[in-house]
Amino acid sequence: MTEATAPRITANLEGKVAIVTGAGRGIGRCIARTLASCGAAIACVDVNVAAAEETVSLIQAEGGRAAAFACDVTDSEQVNSVVDAVIRQYQKLDILVNNAGITRDGLLLRMKDEQWDSVLNVNLRGTFLFTRAAARYLIKAGGARIVNIASISGLMGNPGQANYSASKAGVIGFTRTVARELASRQVTVNAVAPGFIATEMAHALGEDALKQIRERTPLGRLGEPQDVADAVLFLASPAAGFITGTVLRVDGGLAE
Ligand code: NDP
Repeated sequence: MTEATAPRITANLEGKVAIVTGAGRGIGRCIARTLASCGAAIACVDVNVAAAEETVSLIQAEGGRAAAFACDVTDSEQVNSVVDAVIRQYQKLDILVNNAGITRDGLLLRMKDEQWDSVLNVNLRGTFLFTRAAARYLIKAGGARIVNIASISGLMGNPGQANYSASKAGVIGFTRTVARELASRQVTVNAVAPGFIATEMAHALGEDALKQIRERTPLGRLGEPQDVADAVLFLASPAAGFITGTVLRVDGGLAE
């Protein structure tokens, strides 16, 4: 697993304030560092606050601005109070990246209620709760951005992931609807659908499965967190101001 951190596109996010959920590791950490390297102040949100604090230290060492916030994205009260705390600290909010997500894989016939509920709660309810709490501040920002991290599993399905695919398909439907609701306030709302990305989540699949994935992926490799972070940076940037309600696949051609 590599931790590339330098964005390969440029954008000016000076003066912007961003929330990134699940910023303690993996793709979320890379998104936080990437947006920070372009000048945004980052609220690094994670259920594991020590991990979020590590991300903040990395950003600060790279000359960026960031603060850590402990929050379980499934808990409405925690979400509301974190968004309020971010506003108290930074006085505004321009960008929300709903990245926190989990898998609890299993075939349908053996899937436990808990596997279904926990994945739907973190991936879909968490995205809803943060978006609802942030929306009233985003509409005041002028040209604000919401980027939701979905998955190609939500587009094409994946055996063993009925819960995860349903949650990510839900995120895509949610994205398209909120894009329409917030368009008149110049808030754009888009989703990024990664394929298999080299993080702890993907490595949990095991080496045999990863070998098959590499073979099935037209570009012949897993993605890196930076591949996703660069797509998020583009959608969060001023350059993407006329793009809303889209799903951008970052999957090496896998879902085509
Ligand atoms: P990781 O498991 O590496 O990181 C997820 C982060 O989210 C962790 O820091 C985790 O904290 C945090 N988190 C989990 N549950 C909660 C919660 N309830 N509240 C707040 N934070 C929480 O995942 P990835 O970086 O791989 O994935 C990031 C996103 O990208 C997810 O939405 C995932 O579904 C999506 N994605 C990933 C793909 C991949 O191949 N890696 C492919 C397609 C989509 P903790 O460390 O405590 O668990």
